[in-house]
Amino acid sequence: MSMRRFAMALHGGAGARRNRDYSREVPHMLELAERARNRLAGGASALDVAVETAMALEDSGLYVAGRGASPNLAGDYELDASLMDGSSQAAGAVAALKGVRNPILAARRVMEATPHVMLAGEGAEAFCREQDLAGIEDPDAWFTRAGQGEDNHPPGTLAHGTVGCVVLDLNGRMASATSTAGVFGKMPGRVGDTPIPAAGTWADSHAAVSGTGQGEYFIRTAACAQTSWRVAAGATVAQAAQAVIDEIGRLGGDGGLIAVDRQGRIAMPYNSQGMKRAWATSDGHIGSAVFDEGPTQL
Ligand code: ASP
Repeated sequence: MSMRRFAMALHGGAGARRNRDYSREVPHMLELAERARNRLAGGASALDVAVETAMALEDSGLYVAGRGASPNLAGDYELDASLMDGSSQAAGAVAALKGVRNPILAARRVMEATPHVMLAGEGAEAFCREQDLAGIEDPDAWFTRAGQGEDNHPPGTLAHGTVGCVVLDLNGRMASATSTAGVFGKMPGRVGDTPIPAAGTWADSHAAVSGTGQGEYFIRTAACAQTSWRVAAGATVAQAAQAVIDEIGRLGGDGGLIAVDRQGRIAMPYNSQGMKRAWATSDGHIGSAVFDEGPTQL
């Protein structure tokens, strides 16, 4: 029997800087949390809400994903996305994808319409054309380069931004969706954690998790799967998520993650200055925050 409870959290990247103005992102994230809450209260599935929310974040042009993407060192826009449906552990992903407006929708089609988990590069683009996913005619006019100037990490380190959403629905199903243009100044062909299930996205019957940060560290720690496996082993979702962020910190990386468990508890730890985030639960919690004015667990 399900507990008839829902919960969701979203992130708009852990590359937030204290000296920047987030007066557009904070109400925008809250609006998306409200929309997700209404959809979940009406019985929508975790997977649908995770994908819709990630698409809205992509479309806004406010975050470093979808329309908000920044170019790589060669001036090209290569985007990564993945999603995972916890009830079946089905996953879909696209990596280094060019010319497609909603990489998260492409990831969903890979999951639903191919026998594979991930498509990359030209093959992924051909598949998206076949699937009639909206193309981009003039990348320089389309993309807003939302995160530029956001991170002031010293040159040579990996400054970043991403969007993601984790959901528990009324039927006890969980899902996670994550989408990004990757780290600033990335090499052509660089693929981060975001399109890799276990690293940047994970959902199973214990937790749904979405990461944001220096993706190389999230890959090296299997960050999102590790969070869920810690929950499976008896940790609370807050303990599990914090332990993973601590491990990333010990290796020299930064970032954050959002996670929800089957009881609808939410964890949103980060070791960077801030993480753009919002949340909504069936017991009335709703909000959005960037820095420590907001909670990191519920
Ligand atoms: N994790 C992403 C990547 O490494 C970037 C981010 O989350 O900001 O591609």
